[in-house]
Amino acid sequence: MTAATEITFENTFARDLDGLYLPWEAAPAPEPRLVLLNEALARELGLDPAMLRSPEGLGLLTGTAVPESATTVAQAYAGHQFGNYSPRLGDGRALLVGELVTPDGRRRDLHLKGSGRTPFARGGDGKAPLGPMLREYLVSEAMHALGVPSTRSLAVVGTGEHVMRERGPEPGAVLARTASSHLRVGTFQFAAATGDPDVLRRLADHAIARHHPDCAGADHPYLELYRRVVGVQARLIAQWMHLGFVHGVMNTDNMTISGETIDYGPCAFLDAHDPATVYSSIDEGGRYAYGNQPGIAQWNLARFGEALIPLLADDQDEAIRLATEVLQGFAEEYLTARDDGYRAKLGLPAGLDAGPLLTDLFALLEAQKPDHTLFFRRLSDAARGDAGPVRELVGDPSALDEWLSSWRAAGPSPEEMDRVNPVYVPRNHLVEAALGAAVVDGDLEPVQWMLQVLAHPYDEREGYERYAQPAGPDAPPFMTFC
Ligand code: AMP
Ligand code: MG
Ligand code: MG
Repeated sequence: MTAATEITFENTFARDLDGLYLPWEAAPAPEPRLVLLNEALARELGLDPAMLRSPEGLGLLTGTAVPESATTVAQAYAGHQFGNYSPRLGDGRALLVGELVTPDGRRRDLHLKGSGRTPFARGGDGKAPLGPMLREYLVSEAMHALGVPSTRSLAVVGTGEHVMRERGPEPGAVLARTASSHLRVGTFQFAAATGDPDVLRRLADHAIARHHPDCAGADHPYLELYRRVVGVQARLIAQWMHLGFVHGVMNTDNMTISGETIDYGPCAFLDAHDPATVYSSIDEGGRYAYGNQPGIAQWNLARFGEALIPLLADDQDEAIRLATEVLQGFAEEYLTARDDGYRAKLGLPAGLDAGPLLTDLFALLEAQKPDHTLFFRRLSDAARGDAGPVRELVGDPSALDEWLSSWRAAGPSPEEMDRVNPVYVPRNHLVEAALGAAVVDGDLEPVQWMLQVLAHPYDEREGYERYAQPAGPDAPPFMTFC
């Protein structure tokens, strides 16, 4: 077993990108206590779970005792938050420990959240309460199991401190997470704003090497990088939309270059299908509503394109023309991914033109607002001949019947549908109850059960019915505070 102190970290980010980080160390964790450990992920990373549970392991997971090979840094980034530009955000309460190369050769950042104030903390305390870190762990692992590109959660460690929040003192925690990188649109905005084209070029070269090495050989590597990021983001957002996922805070600093979902704060899954759905208490204007996500993604990608302008052509007008052309490709990439995914959700073959069926489906969903997850799952019963369960989900079943008959005529496969329409998503009321039990009573069992259920979201199991149900009709409207 490799001792925690012997783990080899690589530091290509710190090595290549001077100017885009500050070396920094974690704050002490007076009484570290392991709350959750993702043993399967640990093994994927080539780390021994028993080692991570040891005092040295907790030192690594809190950043308080890192191996010689690690260079802990706070990454710098800028970002548009709710549309307003902030030139200096950065890791205010987080550190990049370094990069692990997994046994199968993939490079993964190990990143800690809640590890103390950094020079980017501004007014913040640098700390993280246990509840939100458990929330990120639960939802990011659910997203991974659902097949959505995402950062992963390796561990949550209680620090033994209390942190002050609006509701009063809460137990403090550090989340250890992994990602194929933590490069964000905001990282490029920060690099561009330095005004030093060399910094921007080094960042773009680093992103190409990490995420799209074949772009290096393209006629126009930076334009090709832009095109790839537009593509991965278009496909990512389509997956969110298929699943009814609302990120809640799609600021440009929360959008990755890798195409992984990042920063699970005020996120939540739809119950009723309604494009206007907003869960975040701070999103007063509904900027990041469910139905706005594709448009916001494109807006963020426009900011990315602007940051890349100095690399795209010597002549600025030509650079803008090239970037605009790529950005205009977003709509087609997104719509293709959206329709392919919905066609699969409807159990229809890839070649089929499902256009008219989808148009009518979207109108139906918006008018009837059924539970998003249950609607698609119960539709497979209708494909098997029993439309009863899906008809129960809508206020006016007769509005559904005509659509059901044209859809059935297209020959849907219920088996294919059950492979892509989850039974279990992190239901908001259940997540809140599980976090409450963990934080208030120190009872982790509900979180552990949810993790177990959400690890196999497509396999319907007896005895787990309540995990598939929305909150009852008398439940208060759900809101997230992060
Ligand atoms: P987020 O909304 O979590 O994506 O964070 C936005 C910015 O606020 C980032 O620069 C974070 O590092 C910073 N931030 C959030 N919470 C804290 C905190 N408690 N202490 C210091 N910085 C924070
Ligand atoms: Mg963030
Ligand atoms: Mg954050």
